[in-house]
Amino acid sequence: MEPEHDVGSGATQAGYVIARRRCLIVSESNSARSTTALPSEEGAPYAVETGPPVPPWDLEQVRRDFPALSQRMHGKPLVYLDNAATSQKPRQVIAAVTRYYEESNANVHRAIYELGERATNAYESARRKVAEFINAEDWRSIIFTRGTTEAINLVAYAWGRHNLGPGDEILITKMEHHSNIIPWQLLARDTGAALRYLPLTDDYTLDLKDMSKYITGSTRIVALVHQSNVFGTVNPVRDIVQQARAVGALILVDGAQSVPHFPVDVMQLGCDFLAFSGHKMLGPTGVGVLYARTDLLESMEPFHGGGEMISTVDLQRATWNQIPWKFEAGTPNIAQAVGLGAAIDYLNQLGMDRIADYSKQLTQYSREVLSQIPHITIYGHAPTSSSSLPFNVEGIHPHDMAQLLDQEGIAVRAGHHCAQPLMRCLGVAATTRASFYFYNTSEEIDRLAEGINQAVAFMGG
Ligand code: PLP
Repeated sequence: MEPEHDVGSGATQAGYVIARRRCLIVSESNSARSTTALPSEEGAPYAVETGPPVPPWDLEQVRRDFPALSQRMHGKPLVYLDNAATSQKPRQVIAAVTRYYEESNANVHRAIYELGERATNAYESARRKVAEFINAEDWRSIIFTRGTTEAINLVAYAWGRHNLGPGDEILITKMEHHSNIIPWQLLARDTGAALRYLPLTDDYTLDLKDMSKYITGSTRIVALVHQSNVFGTVNPVRDIVQQARAVGALILVDGAQSVPHFPVDVMQLGCDFLAFSGHKMLGPTGVGVLYARTDLLESMEPFHGGGEMISTVDLQRATWNQIPWKFEAGTPNIAQAVGLGAAIDYLNQLGMDRIADYSKQLTQYSREVLSQIPHITIYGHAPTSSSSLPFNVEGIHPHDMAQLLDQEGIAVRAGHHCAQPLMRCLGVAATTRASFYFYNTSEEIDRLAEGINQAVAFMGG
């Protein structure tokens, strides 16, 4: 699954309007911001005056760690609000990757020379950092993958294809990223198992009231997103784990958005699998993680075949390496894993609790500020959401909105956010989404609001 590079369907005609009028937006950049206070579409829960959040760290100093943030786009200081797609990288991570290549580069495992040992130590110590970060009981539970997508596919192939058949059920939700839909659709198609969906309530949280109708004796695996990449809604995974356990089903948690934003403890969650991506949590692209219970990994078939994952190879058959290497065929993304280790060091230094608090406050503040814009619809469930704010403004296609904001140096995402079933629940083809990380400021949110108001004025609103 590609990262969220979509721009949505149907963004055609209005897009041309912008292309023709783009030159005008610069001269309109001082249009006044609306002061009309409209109630938010969700009423009271977030209609409180929290004011701009105060970061628990020296924000200027933190931002200096991220070279990409100090750039200008179209002559304006960059406001990077596409963190749900990928995060920016601090110097410390970039330096760790460079240092690895300068001082330790060799292939891992099996090398009998000093440099190879250095590479192996760097790679394996990153694995231990990951294990500690999510409180895995055993470092052998950590498998390096290319990202969340590959981690979920690994489970669908290496576990699903050997354990499911007709009469079995896979349960996911209507809030999933395509990465947590398509591998299960393929698995259902190939095994004859049924794919079922937990529905949403009217306020776009998971509808858990009839859970026993969905989690039944036929359910073999429940796979769900921890934090929605569209709404930022954090799902009550522990409650669902308990229900799944009661019927003997396994549970996979898509942690692509949760692991970067708040402390995730696999022991506390009680899940069997957790998938996440390094690039959304300050790390390089090309590395992600599958956490899995060791007894499951021992019993599962390999995913990919090749070097590294074998113990012995005969002409017709082979035996497998120990876990976790049984699931890491070929030369892994060594430098990227090392970079992920450095990213974890950085996050630990700031503190995941403090990151979670600040993200929540930023999101609340952005709801307050944006809800004052006339004709805006903000989606999601305010009390349980963090880090992400999807919206639409009447009469402006999200694709156009993103293009107009880009002219102001503001990077947001527009499209279906790799969640087409969810967009259908919302009754829209696409939204614009601003998503935040701990290096964002309240001034950037003010600039976003100003940019939206300018877009409205520009489009003749
Ligand atoms: N799951 C969620 C909730 C996501 O937000 C994403 C990416 O945006 C993914 C899965 C896929 O991640 P990756 O593309 O890094 O594999």
